[in-house]
Amino acid sequence: MKTLPKKCNFLETEKKWQQKWEEMGVYRFDWNDHSRPIFTIDTPPPYPSGDFHMGNALNHTYFDTFARYKRMRGYNVLFPQGFDCHGLPTEVETEEHYNIKKTDLTPEEFTKLCNQFVDKYIDIMRTAIKRLGCSIDWTTEYQTRNPDYWRKTQLSFIILHKKGYIYQGTHPINWCPRCETAIADAEVEHKPKQGQLHHIKFQLEDGKAVTIATTRPELLSSCVSVAVHPDDKRYQKYVGKAIQVPTTNRTVKIITDELVDPKFGTGIVMICTYGDKADVKSVKTRKLPVIMSIDEAGRMTENAGKYADLTVQEAKKAILTDLKKQGLLEKSEPLQQEVGQCWRCKTPIEILERKQWFMKTLKLTPKVEKTANEIAWYPDYMKARLIDWARSLDWDWVISRQRVFATPIPIWYCKECGEIILAQEDWVPIDPRKEPPKTDKCPKCAAEEFAPETDVLDTWFDSSISCAVHAGWPDRQDWQKRFPADVHPSGTDIIRTWAYYLMVRHLALFNQTPYKSCLINGMVLGTDGRMMHKSLGNYVATPEVFSKYGADAPRQWAAAGGTTGSDIPFRWPDVEYGWRFQIKLWNAARFASLALKDYTSREKTQLQLLDRWLLSKLERATVIAAAALEKCQFNTAIEEIRNFTWHQFCDQYIEAIKHRLYNPKTYSEEKRKAAQYTLYTAIYRILQLLAPIIPHLTEELYQLMYAEDKKHKSIHTSPWPEPDEAIIDDEAERYGDLAVAVIGEIRREKAEKSIPLNTQIKTLTIHAGSKKSAHIVNQALEDIQGTCKIQKITVMPRKGEGREVQDYPNVRFITTY
Ligand SMILES: [Zn+2]
Ligand SMILES: [Zn+2]
Repeated sequence: MKTLPKKCNFLETEKKWQQKWEEMGVYRFDWNDHSRPIFTIDTPPPYPSGDFHMGNALNHTYFDTFARYKRMRGYNVLFPQGFDCHGLPTEVETEEHYNIKKTDLTPEEFTKLCNQFVDKYIDIMRTAIKRLGCSIDWTTEYQTRNPDYWRKTQLSFIILHKKGYIYQGTHPINWCPRCETAIADAEVEHKPKQGQLHHIKFQLEDGKAVTIATTRPELLSSCVSVAVHPDDKRYQKYVGKAIQVPTTNRTVKIITDELVDPKFGTGIVMICTYGDKADVKSVKTRKLPVIMSIDEAGRMTENAGKYADLTVQEAKKAILTDLKKQGLLEKSEPLQQEVGQCWRCKTPIEILERKQWFMKTLKLTPKVEKTANEIAWYPDYMKARLIDWARSLDWDWVISRQRVFATPIPIWYCKECGEIILAQEDWVPIDPRKEPPKTDKCPKCAAEEFAPETDVLDTWFDSSISCAVHAGWPDRQDWQKRFPADVHPSGTDIIRTWAYYLMVRHLALFNQTPYKSCLINGMVLGTDGRMMHKSLGNYVATPEVFSKYGADAPRQWAAAGGTTGSDIPFRWPDVEYGWRFQIKLWNAARFASLALKDYTSREKTQLQLLDRWLLSKLERATVIAAAALEKCQFNTAIEEIRNFTWHQFCDQYIEAIKHRLYNPKTYSEEKRKAAQYTLYTAIYRILQLLAPIIPHLTEELYQLMYAEDKKHKSIHTSPWPEPDEAIIDDEAERYGDLAVAVIGEIRREKAEKSIPLNTQIKTLTIHAGSKKSAHIVNQALEDIQGTCKIQKITVMPRKGEGREVQDYPNVRFITTY
């Protein structure tokens, strides 16, 4: 074996392997392989935000580790990579950067600017994913903004439309007045906010007044009823009476409604179209009229009378001033409330009614629940998040957006009769905003003029077919072979979007679960344990970590940071520990490379007690690590292997065989060979066990030390070690444990007495405490003597005086120097 250099430049080595792996095609999925079982990963296509943060590093480490493990297990692993390009974040960034609104430019010009951001950010994300050492098959890369992906998204729309899952309707929806688009429930963030509760006097017909508390006086013009709780005795006498709505000329009826909280304000509330979701429910069940006072840009409509054209905030102010003047504003008091806001621009959302496209998702809830219970979750308790979310939904999924940078909805309308023309399956990809339907006449009225649907699709409508797309749908005949995906990785924060939308889309399209298991990562907390955020000063950017420590060390932090699914803080000391472990591993391998210079024989030699002790422990570690990796318990796996390597192998075993390696004349060539065999075998095994988590350094060591012998192209395509029961040897482990404990104690004594480790000990007398212990110590006598440099050693079977050996209270020894 060649001798390793003294030091390894980890950063250079990582870069080298990232490039070589790509050249060697180590991670290519073989589409034509019919022999190996297939393992597919539904890599979530990241949003090109330009920020590959530590949370991304965590989840990519999880599923890359799983991919590497499965590859070594003999699977033909499909590990694809896409980018989810469309959507609000890029549009908002473009608007802010150029200080424009989407309507200031033509859609083509606006899209062009969006594409520039996406180009730049995809480059950053791709580089970061490569730098983390992810074993992706880059020949699979796709981008959802490309026409070829549009084709798939639009095709799925057409199929769902034909199956009756898609409909157009006028329903209340969440609306962002800044982005001027509908948004889904999953895109509404609920944030606590300090607001004002205004107590406003409403006049009854008989001239008396009642006070109604509201946070939204600007919705007075949308007030369609006033409600009290049916059991609220205070107000029974008013039920059924008419009441004048201030600032308007309208009267409305006082009704009872179970949804009213008698403890809120005065216990009488306005029902407006729409203040919140409770209003939506009341309006629907009571069949109340709808009066929209707020338009799509967040300005008051004509329904607001003299307040028309004011913004919501301006209207609120003006109305309060008027109410005060008229003596109708009793008081205003502070109120802690929860406000729904746009996930992207943080503007408070409104509930508006507008014609939109919907997907029937509510009726799928029982199926979602059933499927969630059937598949595997890592960790198991996370399935409740998906089920609870599905059950909590009140509305179908609104899939149309009034935006630009997105997949077009493949629909036209007949200008004459309004008939909907749905694109045929072979028309897509198509942009109705630019192209007419490929038909001459309206099928209903034979008119020849059509208007395009100008709304576009929600970004989630693109990305929620990834499981089928990765498998090869709709182009590869045999796509079902790679479907459902074996694992879908998700974060605790995106179960309600990613895991959920995938589930409903694939259930509706194919009546099948999209994934067989769901691997969940928690959030990465800041260095101080709080949420990581730039404003809190606890934010760590991945380039900072990568340029200092490369990828293998932060990957160890990610794997070891906590149980799968739990939130873990970013800790520099954990990354540094990983780095030190790599140095330790390099030094041990270098030591071995020197000791194995002349080692050619692969025959098994007569193994000594400590050789058998080590190999048995290693076999056990193999079993534990494999069981943990099977269940995505990455922290258990890495801790087991690192502890074994650092302590048993480096600190104990290597120290205890040096005498055999260096003095074959004294201890016999045979015993040197046994130590060589054990070193050679153990390091190879350690590298294999570590390879899924520490891919670069293990590859470097494999190539330098073993590639010539083992003949695998890469350690990452070497077969995962099958544990050999025969090697597990309880007696050798028990005996070896005592032997290394004695050696360790003697070395500690030397250290405490400040005696150099290589100083000769004149005599060592061991009081073994029992015949049995004496027998064990005698088995390892030569190793103890050789390792600790003892001239004369005596073992007494009885209890006696001396320094106690840690964990063996009956074993004591006396040394003389
Ligand atoms: Zn917004
Ligand atoms: Zn027509």
